[in-house]
Formats: sequence, structure tokens, C-alpha cells
Amino acid sequence: MSQDRHISGDFPISSPPNGACFDVIIVGGGHAGTEAAAAAARMGANTLLVTHKAATIGEMSCNPAIGGLAKGQLVREIDALDGIMGRAIDRGGIQFRMLNRSKGPAVWGPRAQADRKLYRRAVQTLLAAQPGLTVVEAGAEDLIFSADGALGGVKTDDGRAFRSGAVVITTGTFLRGLIHLGQQRIPAGRVGEAPSLGLSGTFGRLGLTLGRLKTGTPPRLNGKTIDWAALEIQEGDTPPVPFSDLTASITTPQTVCHITETTPETHRIIRDNIHLAPVYSGQIEGRGPRYCPSIEDKVVRFAERNRHQIFLEPEGLDDPTVYPNGISTSLPEDVQAAIVATIPGLERAEILCPGYAIEYDFVDPRQLSQTLETRALRGLFLAGQINGTTGYEEAGAQGLLAGINAALHAAGGGRTFVLDRADAYIGVMIDDLVTLGTQEPYRMFTSRAEYRLRLRADNADQRLTPLGVAAGCVGPVRRDVFAGKKAALDVARSTLQGLEETPRALAEKGLSVNQDGARRSAWAVLSYPDADTETICRIWPEAAAIPGPILRQAAIEAKYSHYIDRQAADVEAFRRDEGLGIPEGFDYDALSGLSNEVREKLKAAHPGTIGQAARIPGVTPAALTLVLGRIRQGRQARVA
Ligand code: FAD
Repeated sequence: MSQDRHISGDFPISSPPNGACFDVIIVGGGHAGTEAAAAAARMGANTLLVTHKAATIGEMSCNPAIGGLAKGQLVREIDALDGIMGRAIDRGGIQFRMLNRSKGPAVWGPRAQADRKLYRRAVQTLLAAQPGLTVVEAGAEDLIFSADGALGGVKTDDGRAFRSGAVVITTGTFLRGLIHLGQQRIPAGRVGEAPSLGLSGTFGRLGLTLGRLKTGTPPRLNGKTIDWAALEIQEGDTPPVPFSDLTASITTPQTVCHITETTPETHRIIRDNIHLAPVYSGQIEGRGPRYCPSIEDKVVRFAERNRHQIFLEPEGLDDPTVYPNGISTSLPEDVQAAIVATIPGLERAEILCPGYAIEYDFVDPRQLSQTLETRALRGLFLAGQINGTTGYEEAGAQGLLAGINAALHAAGGGRTFVLDRADAYIGVMIDDLVTLGTQEPYRMFTSRAEYRLRLRADNADQRLTPLGVAAGCVGPVRRDVFAGKKAALDVARSTLQGLEETPRALAEKGLSVNQDGARRSAWAVLSYPDADTETICRIWPEAAAIPGPILRQAAIEAKYSHYIDRQAADVEAFRRDEGLGIPEGFDYDALSGLSNEVREKLKAAHPGTIGQAARIPGVTPAALTLVLGRIRQGRQARVA
């Protein structure tokens, strides 16, 4: 197909003719949309990305950081499936830290501060290099349908129509977005950008239930007006550890963050003006993120505390803008200025852009299947903040899954790509969303994962890359890197299992073990709490020949191997229940013996399996037995 191409910023834009056909169309170039577009194209689908502005592809709407507790695991999982977020933050990251290092490696959370501009540029460069992907600047206003009501594509606000039977919508906070700043209300998707209005109507016509959520952002400060000398410094890790298995080392210059805190005077000003906060004046209906509250929320909810920590995060290496992480607010601008002036180091800080809250529509995710396809319309997939989540990582992970499944849908053949709760944090998140729905912006936590000893950041590639290769979303470069690493790990494991010493020899080398006469392997010794890779290399100098990163990963595996073996039975039982499918369209009304409450819960969640049904609060084992009995009856009737 011949297309005009021009450059918007660093990005090649296309103008495919009105009516052009694609295998997959993605709406929205945020964190979900970019992963969806790249994944669908990697799967070989001829993919179109329709987004408002190419220059904002990969834009970080809020905090300039990627990863963190549980979020870092999501980024590693995206990377393991050949997604772009890990590689982008490795190029745009200006301070890398492994959070939770004082705890076990299962809950370590890699995090990096980003240079906003470098991160956006990295996402755009990676997308621009992706074959099979066309980018169009436009707003999607509506869907188009064929005569029989099937999904036919997307209509844009400039009057064009693009055809496809597989569409992924990733509109973030833009659906009927409304900014609140004190008493001011400004229709917007984020500051300075128009909201998306048409698609909410489309979803209503499809019978999808929408809700309203809110989130907020702090004022941005001019770093040149901050008294840095008065503040505590937070250093990054040296050397910085990359997120992606494809990044050899971090070459972007690194910087530091600073820490300050609110004061009793800050809290007094907030309390005196609380009636002006849109959340407390009744101006905002949507629920906000409980775990990422505004400063006014913190002061009200934790009234006993007179200080809250604030991280001063640089927004870029050559940008003086500073993001004060911890004081998200929608109080009026003059109150924000008064608050900032009470904070040590910020007494003379200039506000470059005030904080604000934003309310937006989301779609109740219980109307989606595990592939993120809507049940109301085949071929329509939703991903990201539109499904009630918050955060770049949560959005990116959903985008990746939706993009893969949209490409599989377009290819026909009935294949799907689903990750379960024992495979990945991505599986936990999607299962939580589609089974339980959400009443507030959903963010990932390690505590949400039952099998978190398996779902570590370090082994994301071992868990997921083979699944991605089989699905077709992993390219040859990553496939080869993974194969090399896997072979090295196999060698390391057998080396460590083959190196043995008697208890007496171990004691002589400074390791106190039970003198029971049983020889211990280096692998077994690694599971002892006081043994690490240095201990192993001291006792068995041969182990030092194993490359450092491989030895460290093998050591983590060895440390957890007993627990993971013990958990294997639980995982097997979980997967048995997941294997008991509930047919699409199962008629709960025709099942006598179910209480009305349980019936309504099952009808709202449409669980795809008995395991999923069991996770709905209030669904009893007796109800599950009834459902199972009816499925078996149906099967026997069909066989007869
Ligand atoms: P977005 O990143 O919002 O991307 C949506 C994209 O779709 C944009 O490029 C937009 O231009 C495009 N688009 C929208 N509608 C259309 C259309 N009809 N046609 C074409 N293109 C369209 N996350 C946190 O984890 N913690 C926080 O504290 C936090 N605070 C936030 C505060 C604010 C004010 C905002 C705006 C966001 C905040 N976030 C926060 C959320 C974070 O930014 C999002 O979770 C993340 O960006 C969601 O990614 P997404 O891809 O779903 O959507």
C-alpha cells in the first residue's frame, strides 16, 4: 500500500488512505498502546497505531520513574516477552535502585528514575524501528461495524475510517477526562491535552458498564530555586543494573535524588483549606488510588502524623524541573504555593506547573475475558488505565497481552495467549481485574501474588521467554540471548550441584554445618541463610569461573529451590481447578440451589474456570459443586 510519510518530532507518521485495512488497530500511544502496537507487529500482524500526537508517544503523565515494588517485576516480565518498556528505561534511566534489598530476592523491586525526554525518545525510537507498524495522528471517535454487527474498524475525528476486525483501545485517563484544580474544572485527558469523548458513547451503546475513577499529580518545581544544600541525598546503585536482558550496561549519565518532608505547618495549611480540596468539597465523584493518596488525603487519614517524606526527583538531565513525589494535590494554586513554602529546602521554590486531580471513565474489567477481549464485542480488546488500573507498568503489561491476543484473533485459528497466576504477575493482575473488578485504581503489589517465590524479577525470562517464543511475540535476537543464558545457567546448576565437601572440610573453611557425615553440594550450601556466592567461591574456587550474573541468578534459584518444590503441589492443585472450564454463556439462572447473591456475583464476573469462580468472594464450595455438577451433566448429555 502506498503511503505518504512525514516526520513529527523524531517520529515517522503515515497517512494511509481512508478505508485502509489492517490486521490490528491500536488506539492510544501511551504505555499500554505502545506495548500493544509493538507486540501485535512482532506477531506479524499489519498493525496501525492511531494516537492523538506522535510526539507524546511514550509520555509519562505523572512520575518520572519506571518500576518499583511488584511494578519492577512487571517490567521484567514485559521485557521477557520482548516488550519495549525495559529497553526504553535502560536508555532513559538516570538513577537505578533495587528496592527492598534488605528482604529476600523474591520481593526485590528494580526501579529507575527516568529522564522524561530520553524515555519518550527511546520508546519512539524502538517503535519506529518495528517493522509492520504504521502510526497515524488522529483521535479515534467511534468504532465501525459491518452489516451483521461485527467489529469493522475505527472512525477518526478527521472523518477517516480504518478497517480491522481486531481493535485494542488504550485511552488511559482521556475518556471523558476532567481536571480538577481547586474549584476549576477543565475537560482534559491530561494537562494541555483534550479529552476523548466519543468512545464513552460507543461503549455505552455496546452495553458496557463504565465507572469513574480519579488520580492526581503534584506541582512541578523549578530545581534552580531549591536549596539543595539543606537536603539529604539519595544515591543510586553502582553500577546501575539494567532492566532488560538485551542491555549490556547502562551508558546514560546517572544522577541523585534528594529527600525532604512536610512539616506541622504544612499540615496546618492543608487542614485550614481542606474545604477547597475537590475530593472533600464533593466536586469529585471518582475514587482515587488508596495506596498513592494526595497530600490532603494523607493529612486527613493519618492525622496523628506530623511529617510525610517527599522525594525530589529530577525530571531530566538537562531539565531543571523537579517532581516532588509525595505531595500530589488538587488544592487551589495559591494554597499549593503556601504548602510548598513550608517544606525544608523548598522555601523559595518556584512552582512551574500546579498539581491537579483528574477524573475519567473506566470500563468495569469484569466484562473482559483473560485475553482482555470484551465479551460484548468479539475482536475488541481493552488495555491499561481504561480497565481501572493505575501505573505505567500495569498499563504496559496489559497492552502487551492485548496486542498479542489481538494479533492471534486477526490470524484466526482460535489461539489465545493467557498467563495464569503461577506464571506471572501479569497473570495475577489480569485475573484480579477480570474476576473481581476494581472499585479504586488498581496497582500491583507483591502481596497480591500467591506464588511470589516463583514470580521473581530475576527469573522473569526463565518463566516467560519460552512461552513468548512459542506464541510468536519474541524476536530472534532475544530468543538467541535467552538460549545462551539458559545454557550458561544449566552449566552453572550442574557445576554447583557437582561440587561437594564433607561437613568437616566445610567447618575447616569457616562454614558451621551439622557434623552428620553427609556431604553437601555447593548448590545445597547456597540455601543456607549465612552462605552467599562469595562463601561458595571461597570454599570451591572452581565456582568463581561461573560468570558473575549467572552465578548470582543460580544462587537465588538454589536459595528458593526447597520452598518452590514444596509449593509445586499447591500450583498443581491451582492449575487443576483452572483446567475445569465453565462454558461461555453458562446459564446460572437455570441452576437451582444457588443463592441470589452468589448467582449475581457469578453472572457479573463470568468466570471462565472453576478456579476463577472460587476466587470470587462469597462464592461457596457448595455453589462450585453445583456449577461443576451441571457442567458434567451437560457433557454427559452431549456424549449420549
Ligand atoms: P496513557 O499513558 O494515558 O495514554 C493514553 C494515550 O492514548 C495518550 O497518548 C492519548 O493521547 C491517547 N488517546 C486517548 N484517547 C484517544 C483517542 N480517542 N484516539 C487516539 N488516541 C487517544 N500512575 C501511577 O502509578 N501513580 C500515580 O500517582 C499516577 N498519577 C497520575 C496523575 C495524573 C494527572 C495522570 C494523568 C496519570 C497518573 N498516573 C499515575 C497514571 C499513569 O499516567 C497511567 O497509569 C498510565 O499512563 C496509563 O497508561 P495508558 O497507556 O493506559 O494511558
